Amino acid sequence: MSHRVLIIGAGGVGRVVVHKCAQLPDVFGEIMLASRTKSKCDSIAAELKRPIQTAAVDADNVPELVKLLKSYKPEVVINVALPYQDLTIMDACLEAGVHYIDTANYEPRDVAKFEYHWQWAYQDKFKKAGLTALLGCGFDPGVTNVNPEINLREVTANGRYWQDGKWVETKPLEIKRSFPFPDGIGPKNIYCLYHEELESLTKHFDIRRARFWMTFGDAYIKHMEVLVNVGMTGIHPVKHKGVDIIPIEFLKTLLPEPGTLGADTKGKTCIGNWIEGIDKNGQPLRYYVYNICDHQECFKETNSQGVSYTTGVPAMIAARQLLTNPTEYRQPGVWNIEQLNPDPFMADLNAYGLPWLETWPTEPLPGE
Ligand code: NDP
Repeated sequence: MSHRVLIIGAGGVGRVVVHKCAQLPDVFGEIMLASRTKSKCDSIAAELKRPIQTAAVDADNVPELVKLLKSYKPEVVINVALPYQDLTIMDACLEAGVHYIDTANYEPRDVAKFEYHWQWAYQDKFKKAGLTALLGCGFDPGVTNVNPEINLREVTANGRYWQDGKWVETKPLEIKRSFPFPDGIGPKNIYCLYHEELESLTKHFDIRRARFWMTFGDAYIKHMEVLVNVGMTGIHPVKHKGVDIIPIEFLKTLLPEPGTLGADTKGKTCIGNWIEGIDKNGQPLRYYVYNICDHQECFKETNSQGVSYTTGVPAMIAARQLLTNPTEYRQPGVWNIEQLNPDPFMADLNAYGLPWLETWPTEPLPGE
């Protein structure tokens, strides 16, 4: 049976979601892409082999969203606009009776803080409405190093990791290691940051220590230091020639849009989990599961680079599961993706462009 889906946000990730959904007409029989700027939706639509609908919508505006949802009547919304729009889109889904999927948790514009509690507070409303919200369905929720504004807000904040039942605070980029990435990528510096999946994973699983690591080149960090030192990453308004401007928003205006980076991005992404613990037989176990994605291969398939691709494919998969596997993926309420049965999701990753590899390392994480 084929279904009707509405994708909101015609950026880098939106482009991938649209391409991947369009490749599965048996599941996604009808697709609409809506964004603030309709011309961006139209140019993505023009890349596809089958027709889709497009629309302009301001996703900050609940009545406008509700009007669109009530007229198009999708079964599910895939929200790949910005994290600032999560709550308005959830409100509109509740009012129009539509399921909801996103890839990044809500972040208020005026506080450099992203947390799940705002969205978890919708639990009862979604349950009562008999609707499902699947949160965090990208590759690594929240911080995206292709969205400069969101990435800058995160990287310049203090880090935090979970250990023995409490958060341990670090200075920005204080903990650094070199990690030997597999498949010819080689050693890169990795930095311990706070990232939103730490909040949901430590709530849903009994984990002794959970840390999130991300790589940054030395040049990126140098630029970042300068921008922070001159106040360019500030999130509060400053007066410029009598006009209020928010430095980080101005900086975003100067930087390229993530969606335009595809053609020039070369190399690979490597995203994975390094897990240590005790196996079912009480023996120590070390397990590394990861995906490698080649930016240029992603671009050939979807006109987007690897970071958008690794986010857009899981969002499509979440929608595919919600629509075709209701017993497991369409229970009423608000769910982080890791709360549901991972097996069908992991199988879909292999089938739809993000195959994963696994190893059982014999040595501890370098630097431990
Ligand atoms: P982009 O900036 O490329 O795209 C965002 C799109 O959202 C833009 O096209 C913009 O539309 C649209 N948009 C912004 N505000 C509104 C609004 N008020 N109403 C309607 N549309 C709006 O970002 P990405 O595609 O890189 O990221 C999309 C989402 O995916 C973000 O939430 C990001 O945090 C998340 N993400 C998650 C990752 C993960 O691994 N979980 C990794 C990467 C991203 P317009 O251009 O028309 O103004």
